[in-house]
Amino acid sequence: YSTDASIESPISPSVKVNYTQLLINGQFVDSASGKTFPTLDPRTGEVIAHVAEGDAEDVNRAVSAARKAFDEGPWPKMTAYERSRVLFRFADMIEKHNDEIAALETWDNGKPFEQAAKIEVPMVVRFFRYYAGFADKIHGLTVPADGEYHVQTLHEPIGVAGQIIPWNFPLLMFAWKVAPALACGNTIVLKTAEQTPLSALYAATLLQEAGLPPGVLNVVSGFGPTAGASLASHMDIDKAATNSSNSNASASVPVCNFASICYLIAMFLLKLPFIPPQFAFTGSTDTGKKILELAAKSNLKTVTLELGGKSPFIVCEDADVDKAVEMAHFALFFNQGQCCCSGSRTFVHEKVYDEFLEKAKARAERRLVGDPFKGGIEQGPQIDSVQFEKILKYIDYGVKAGAKLETGGERVGTKGFYIKPTVFSDVQDDMPIACEEIFGPVQTILKYKDLNEVIRRANNSRYGLAAGVFTQNIDTANTLARALRVGSVFINCYYIFDASIPFGGYKMSGIGREKGIYGLSNYLQVKAVVTPLKNP
Ligand code: ADP
Repeated sequence: YSTDASIESPISPSVKVNYTQLLINGQFVDSASGKTFPTLDPRTGEVIAHVAEGDAEDVNRAVSAARKAFDEGPWPKMTAYERSRVLFRFADMIEKHNDEIAALETWDNGKPFEQAAKIEVPMVVRFFRYYAGFADKIHGLTVPADGEYHVQTLHEPIGVAGQIIPWNFPLLMFAWKVAPALACGNTIVLKTAEQTPLSALYAATLLQEAGLPPGVLNVVSGFGPTAGASLASHMDIDKAATNSSNSNASASVPVCNFASICYLIAMFLLKLPFIPPQFAFTGSTDTGKKILELAAKSNLKTVTLELGGKSPFIVCEDADVDKAVEMAHFALFFNQGQCCCSGSRTFVHEKVYDEFLEKAKARAERRLVGDPFKGGIEQGPQIDSVQFEKILKYIDYGVKAGAKLETGGERVGTKGFYIKPTVFSDVQDDMPIACEEIFGPVQTILKYKDLNEVIRRANNSRYGLAAGVFTQNIDTANTLARALRVGSVFINCYYIFDASIPFGGYKMSGIGREKGIYGLSNYLQVKAVVTPLKNP
């Protein structure tokens, strides 16, 4: 199933791009239209490989394969123990290919190789082992109902899951979506982000080698308004799950609507069976809204959404300033600032504000930006020219709105999508840089006077994904943890993403929780079975 053209990376450890086609029913195939799109190296903007571009017809083929694998295939009928063994074997294989897969991720995404190899790929391994362990521990209940009945609940897989992932953590988002869905016995059609299609194709190949039957995981590379929208509006998808990278989606509504209408007409003409469908998405809030709308307009598939954020990071008056500076820096600049839950509003108490600002600026100026394959590099290029331009535009907005540009604010070099670590002070709550997701290496520092004020201002956002709190006072920590309307509160730490910790958003940051025991419920149906104790 490898393509004929295998392209070797210009870096060390070297890795080849062997898989560029769509994975449908266990086979690598070209798209029905024969179209391809280029995936680019963010270091240079040059083409790494041309990848098959899936659209509605390919989504249909992939959904049929997933449906057949669910209805007829061995996967949902296998013992849970056998399913868990496949997932454990896959985790071992990823571990074995750690550096190779990390290199592919860095090449396609631009993130530092050390970050990919030492943090993210090992997290993927851990994640699969965590859910592999759950596969044979999914229990129903016996229910003490009134009357002479034996009542039990069966926890069953939902069916065919449609999953759409973003480009900021391609392989990790693959794991967040695929591992729980498979552990619960579902089958999957996964759409990768158009910027980063490579690592999921590689991982899907390893999953098949680990014993996943054909059709259980289908991978369609392609664009949001075509392949993504077809998946979200598909009548035979039971569950939609999606994550977004940021808030400014470029998808156009008319295209989505057109795709979904075409699909509905095709369904009607071809007399396709109606089977109630499921969906998971990570992406921008605007895209999330479109997906929810498509899900509602099609077949009411259940949807989980992990969307954007503008997370507060609150430095209290008693904080150890050096440590707070380092943690706030990490909370914002990690992964080139391309995290949905980055601590992107740094609130600093007025008593420590001046010291914090001076040190935060110095830290940003020390940040090592450069080729992500080089050792010691902390920051690589942004993902693509669209994000690069958008970040520079926000920096311009910040300056025009009257915030003080302390450092950075421009590109690094002349090639690729590198941006200087940027710090703004004197930021006011209503400036675009303080309320919209920049999704780049731009720290915005805001001053506050007292706790009630910072709670009100931190909560004054349409988002509610995460928050950071830096204090040595347990009462302050407890007060803030309870008052902040967000899905995750990190106290004196940030980005602790253990597989067992639930993650998701309040407000417009999403619907549902991924990871941990909570993540299982996205992929399970509950069936109540009622039997009279005595035959009537
Ligand atoms: P970003 O703007 O950071 O790329 P998106 O939310 O647009 O964030 O993208 C996240 C994922 O959602 C990607 O896989 C993308 O292709 C997909 N996507 C974008 N628009 C749509 C859409 N209208 N329907 C379904 N999926 C979409």
